[in-house]
Amino acid sequence: RYYFDHAATTPVAPEVIKVITDSLANDFGNVSSTNYFGQQEKLNLRQSRQTLAEAINANLNEVYFTSGATESNNTVIRQSALAWQNKGRHLITTAVEHPSVLRVMEYLAQNGFDVTFLPVNEEGTIELTDFKNALRSDTILVSVMYGNNETGSLMPIKEIGEILKDHQASFHVDATQALGIEKIDVKELGIDFLSASAHKIYGPKGIGLLYKDQKIVIPPLLLGGEQENNFRAGTTNMPLIMGFAAAMKLCNEQNEARWAIMYQEDKKILLDHLKDSGIDFEINGSFDKSLPQILNLWFKGVSSKVLLPLIDLDGYAVAAGSACSAGSAEDSHVLLAMYPNNLSRVRESIRISFGRDNQREDVENLADDLVKRVKHLERKDS
Ligand code: PLP
Repeated sequence: RYYFDHAATTPVAPEVIKVITDSLANDFGNVSSTNYFGQQEKLNLRQSRQTLAEAINANLNEVYFTSGATESNNTVIRQSALAWQNKGRHLITTAVEHPSVLRVMEYLAQNGFDVTFLPVNEEGTIELTDFKNALRSDTILVSVMYGNNETGSLMPIKEIGEILKDHQASFHVDATQALGIEKIDVKELGIDFLSASAHKIYGPKGIGLLYKDQKIVIPPLLLGGEQENNFRAGTTNMPLIMGFAAAMKLCNEQNEARWAIMYQEDKKILLDHLKDSGIDFEINGSFDKSLPQILNLWFKGVSSKVLLPLIDLDGYAVAAGSACSAGSAEDSHVLLAMYPNNLSRVRESIRISFGRDNQREDVENLADDLVKRVKHLERKDS
């Protein structure tokens, strides 16, 4: 079986598994304990935090561990609204964010806040003029993802950060799909909050990070113990934190750019094969202005509900929309936002996302089998 669904989650790297199992087996101390066992863990925690802080050019006291990007997103948006409601009640986001952003924004909109959901163009990205027009003196938070999880489409993060330099609004970036792939420098990009997750970078599920500029104060979402500098209560999950740091180290050591180049090549090979075959398809989004590991394709006239199980039978795991919407009857909100007048396109598209375990040959085979299936289904339809 071949896995082409790395945007949903990645396999845990063997080196990471070893770090986690070693921690589980040997280091059970509670970080908050003043005894020897606790203090040993405190050192491990500091080192792990350092690894993640360095990866995004943050300070040690600006990185908090959470249960994942969902919790990080919830924390930033809910707690910013709570903290700053007297300064303003307007928030800006995009129509194509992950549900862990969208649902919170909708909740706020139902509870006295005004939320602008910026539209996207056919390439899946926002227009800066729309953003500038939406920005108001009472805007308190702007939440825009780095790259989309269904199409890979990149957002103009640097430009937004630049514009917000002279504005009271804080800038939150959900970088869950970009960490470990793109070079992210929170200082250079003018980012105030950043969310990410270990299980997208060959780490374990259930652990994520929240970067918060040290100058910014918001109240914690979870109340309780004094862990994470009083910002996130709950006994520190050392095995997963160490696994996250080990996964990040692997990204650094193996050089993010190298993977990025490899995925871009995989993408090109797959597209060239499809083009040569003469089947009718289009990219949803853009080839260049996209995260290299994600490719979303429209096979014209071929329902993804039919194509997906057949490709799965052939041995390839791909996706329609995101993992969150797969299995549900709902159409992808991302593709709907990009092609509001083309429901067929929304329902005839699949996502292929590349990873370290994909060999060139597997990519070529996937392309060949896709062509076979699509040609067969096209014939059936006509
Ligand atoms: N944001 C984006 C862009 C994602 O792709 C995901 C992953 O599903 C999440 C947030 C949620 O991450 P987690 O599974 O760590 O809660």
